[in-house]
Order: sequence, then C-alpha cells, then structure tokens
Amino acid sequence: MPDNSKMVALGQWILKADDDLNVAEYIVASGYYSATGFHCQQSAEKYLKAYLVWNDREFPKTHDLELLLDLVEAVDRELTAPLRDIIVLTVYSVEVRYPGDIPEMSSDDVNKAMSLARMVKEAVMEKLPKVCPQCGHVFNGNGWDGIDAHWRAKNLGHENIMSYEEAWPLIQAGKYKRRGDKK
Ligand SMILES: [Zn+2]
Repeated sequence: MPDNSKMVALGQWILKADDDLNVAEYIVASGYYSATGFHCQQSAEKYLKAYLVWNDREFPKTHDLELLLDLVEAVDRELTAPLRDIIVLTVYSVEVRYPGDIPEMSSDDVNKAMSLARMVKEAVMEKLPKVCPQCGHVFNGNGWDGIDAHWRAKNLGHENIMSYEEAWPLIQAGKYKRRGDKK
C-alpha cells in the first residue's frame, strides 16, 4: 500500500491534468482556438508527472515533454513508444514575451493537439490506479471497486452534484468533468 501522501499527490496531479484537458475541450467547443495548445500541453505534462510521482521518479521543473517522456520511458518503454508524437505540444508551453511567441493554430493544429492530449490521458490512466474525477480519491484496489459507496458517501457531497447513476457511465468513459457543488 503506497503511503497516503503519494496517493494525495497522484489524485491532485490527475485532477489538474483533467482540468486542463476539460478547459481545452471547452475552449474548442466555444470556437476559441488560441489557448488550446497551451492547455493540451499542460494536460499532457501533468499526466506524465502523475505517472512519475506514482512510480517514485523525480522530475525537474520543466514543460519539456520529450524530457518527461524519457523519464517515463525508463520505467515503462511500452507506454512511451506510441506517445512520442506529443513532443510537438512542447512548443505551446513557451513563455510568452511578445505576441509573436504564441504559435498560431489552424483548426488542424487544434484537432491534432486535442487528440494527442486525449491519447496521453488514455495511455497513462491505463497504467495508474483509478482516481475519482471529482475529488481525486485514489482507488488503490481492484479497478473501480468501491466507487459507488464513495460517490454516495454523504460527507463528500458528490451526490449533490450528480447522481451516481448519471455519473458512473461518464466516469467509466473518462468523460466526467469535475464541477462545483451548486447548492
Ligand atoms: Zn470523489
């Protein structure tokens, strides 16, 4: 059983990674493109860092996806082999000093960035324990075992946000989007 601080850290990285991907999807759906690459890069970076945290690997403060992939590869070569294309996203992480530093994105670029970010999520989450997409709780047992009791626990209030019956298919599909309690 991993120590509690590692479980908390994993949950936090995953929630932040999910948030970035959800924001990217929201931006695209709204017809605004320019910040999509940034959020896709951020999301990919955080899923990789979540994986490294879980596998007790240290990593520098970096937005360089190639460097992060190299660190992940040292743990699991099979995981990174199909993910090499994502290094094109690193360009969107540049510190912006001049407007010209922001790479222009065509709709093809946006679609590509979105599909790369989704691919990282899918590949990495396959290798990690299940994480409640609302609160970051880590199910460190067998798959989603216990998610129903967790979701319905009164003290967590997840049921105030969405019923378990409604949330479960979304959670399973990796499509649940964290939201605030409307009460
Ligand atoms: Zn939860």
